[in-house]
Amino acid sequence: MNERELHEGLTQAEAVRRLKKYGPNKLERNNKVSPIKIFLSQFNDFITWILIIATAISGVMGEKADAITILIIVIMNAILGFVQEYKTEKSLEALKELAAPTAKVLRNGVLKVISAEELVVGDLIILESGDRIPADCMLVEDSNFMVDESLLTGESVGVEKNSRGAKDSSIYMGTIVLKGKGKARIVETGMKTEMGKIAGMLQNIESDRSPLKEKLAALGKVLVILCIVICAVVTLTGIARGQDKYQMFLLGVSLAVAAIPEGLTAIVTVALALGVSRMLKRNALVRKLPAVETLGCTSIICSDKTGTLTENKMTVKAMYFNSRIYYVDKESVPENLILKKAFTYCNDCNFDYKGDNISKSLFGDPTETALIKAFFRENKELKGFMDKAKRVYDIPFDSDRKMMSVVMREGSKETCYVKGAPERIINRCKYILDKGEIKLFTSDYKNKILKAVETMSFDALRCIAGAYKETGIVKGKGLEDNLIFVGVSGIIDPPRKEAKDAVLRCKIAGIRPIMITGDHKNTAFAIGKELSICKNQSEVITGEDLDKLSDKQLSAKTDSVSVFARVSPHHKLRIVKAFKAKSNIVAMTGDGVNDAPAVKEADIGISMGISGTDVTKEASSMILLDDNFATIVSAVEEGRIIYDNIRKFIRYLLSCNLGEVLTMFLASLFYLDTPLLPIQILLVNLATDGLPAIALGVDPPESDIMSGKPRPKNESIFARGLSEKIMVRGSLIGVCTVMAFIIGRYCNYDITTCRTLALCTLIMSQLIHVFECRSERHSLFEMKFFTNPYLVGAVATSITMIMCVLYLPFLQSVFHTSALGIGQWGIVLFFSGIIALINSLYLYFK
Ligand code: ATP
Repeated sequence: MNERELHEGLTQAEAVRRLKKYGPNKLERNNKVSPIKIFLSQFNDFITWILIIATAISGVMGEKADAITILIIVIMNAILGFVQEYKTEKSLEALKELAAPTAKVLRNGVLKVISAEELVVGDLIILESGDRIPADCMLVEDSNFMVDESLLTGESVGVEKNSRGAKDSSIYMGTIVLKGKGKARIVETGMKTEMGKIAGMLQNIESDRSPLKEKLAALGKVLVILCIVICAVVTLTGIARGQDKYQMFLLGVSLAVAAIPEGLTAIVTVALALGVSRMLKRNALVRKLPAVETLGCTSIICSDKTGTLTENKMTVKAMYFNSRIYYVDKESVPENLILKKAFTYCNDCNFDYKGDNISKSLFGDPTETALIKAFFRENKELKGFMDKAKRVYDIPFDSDRKMMSVVMREGSKETCYVKGAPERIINRCKYILDKGEIKLFTSDYKNKILKAVETMSFDALRCIAGAYKETGIVKGKGLEDNLIFVGVSGIIDPPRKEAKDAVLRCKIAGIRPIMITGDHKNTAFAIGKELSICKNQSEVITGEDLDKLSDKQLSAKTDSVSVFARVSPHHKLRIVKAFKAKSNIVAMTGDGVNDAPAVKEADIGISMGISGTDVTKEASSMILLDDNFATIVSAVEEGRIIYDNIRKFIRYLLSCNLGEVLTMFLASLFYLDTPLLPIQILLVNLATDGLPAIALGVDPPESDIMSGKPRPKNESIFARGLSEKIMVRGSLIGVCTVMAFIIGRYCNYDITTCRTLALCTLIMSQLIHVFECRSERHSLFEMKFFTNPYLVGAVATSITMIMCVLYLPFLQSVFHTSALGIGQWGIVLFFSGIIALINSLYLYFK
């Protein structure tokens, strides 16, 4: 490694060469989806096997055409199932790739964020608290660096690391930076790292089982038993009446195949996965699939202020020193060299002095870039200023301490510069710099400063105070005591434009938005009021107030508090618990490493894609790619849409299957001829169960989806009258089909025509019913049919299928159908449409 590489990192060309030679920095996993496995798993079903065997037997007994057709239908069903499942697996895999971690790397002297997989040996990376270390490295620079190596050693206490000895400077892939900052050189990547040797990989997407899917799987089992019993009854009564044994057995099995809603759980997965990809388009990356279900129940959204509710584009608007406030836009601010040094030196921005444009050459925390831009216009000027001093020690900013310090060597003397939340700085000052003179920091001075901070914060300004002291000796303990107060700067961070609208949408949807911030009470109130999160100051409470409350008192207060100000990350956990104790479903955002416990505790833990640390991202169930509050609300909306759609196709599938079973059951009960042949039952299953049900899974939302209250988390999927709807409608489909069959008999049509009437009535009833399932409140008259083109396409495909079966002579003989005339179609349409018509009239005039 040459001198240049030591400071500027590898060149891009060299990195590309190494990546090609040594491969990507990733741990190998062998859980790729295998299409063949998925296809074969489609046949891994007991009932299907019985059907195949029964078909084979009937084939041998002479019904060859039937046997072949049944096999073709079984294979077509398997292909349909395969396409669904393969698509789901693929999109889940793509999501895993997207959630892959990133790293901050120096290449050609420029700091870039790249995918951790592209890192190579020799790369220089920057590490900060909360980062998961992306490869095995040696620290080359460090400040207060501490890591959590519990993943490797099992030891959960933090380990200090520094760039001195070889042992102390070794840091390992997968471990976490707990504190401090550091620069490190990569020594091993991928499977060659310590972690690779252990090869215990942390999955990015956890495939937790979805509670809804589990409940449906349990329901499925009950339905299977019920179906088998009914099918057995149908088969046995047929045999008792002297019908052909094999035919009746085949009929029973076909009915079981058609009636058992095997697609139920599969379609839930498809709906969830498609929902996840829709959410991704709206910038919400879901890491845990079950979160999608919970999202729809969210009743409280606790959001950080900075960057989520506000733009995170900061500008200094006011400065306070020499006992007065200067407003930057309205007057010229006199130069205050010490304040300039405190805010510029005690600052972790990275610079790349290319060109003159200072905005383009600053990278880092927006608060800190704003401070630099307040004092400098040009790069040259800034570089000259920075070159005059060298940082010899620092204590980085952290949200608990709310301050940061550096020691700078300027010529022969060393000075400590400190900046942070005004109350914290004031507490540590003994003197004040007033018009160039150092004076004792009397309470008179303190009160004036506090008043100025109050004035600025009421204008929604974020206040940061600066202080200093000449040092040289004390580093570590006592460094930040007995400081000399210099001044305060007030920074504006305007609310995001879309946030106000999103807050309003929350309120209409019965969701309470809560703001949590480390900022001053007044600043928080001013922003909260502008966004309509709170109306008066009684709704604001500070971290200090919070410390005085017991958990019970805090929980009681949650009803009236909408803004939590000057809180530290550890308060967030208490806040989540307090809201949860009141039976709320809580979504909570977080970015820093200390936020992870609260994010984990929340029902929906949300991390920030841009400013979030790896640890918080891993604790979260959803990542906001744009750090935007409005995105949370969109995700909640998607959660509701998905749940609604799941209800829609459950309603559809179950009532249709009930209709099918009941048709056969009623016929056997009243000693009628079998209204449908096995092959016809399988055709009904193919035409109605597959495509239309999937299309319902992607149905666009009803316009009032965000105007009701969130549903309770433990509400059954069949709640709010769904089970009754399924029972009634399913029974009516069965009754109408049997009626069509009976009318056919009454008109003295031959048995083939009567069965064709029943077949068409059953299929058409279901294809009409699928549109009814699109809404639980509105009638077919109010429906915009073409808003779901997939459904229209699916229904058109099914109708074409029946037409072929009815009118193509070859298929007529295969499916034992006859071509219906206009009058006969009249019977079909009457019996399949009458219930939908009555139901729609009822809903319309209700
Ligand atoms: P949120 O929790 O909504 O992100 P926040 O960003 O204001 O709010 P913190 O980052 O914890 O929360 O900041 C709290 C306070 O610490 C600020 O009001 C400010 O006074 C001070 N502060 C913020 N950033 C810095 C910094 N880089 N250096 C020194 N002090 C800072």
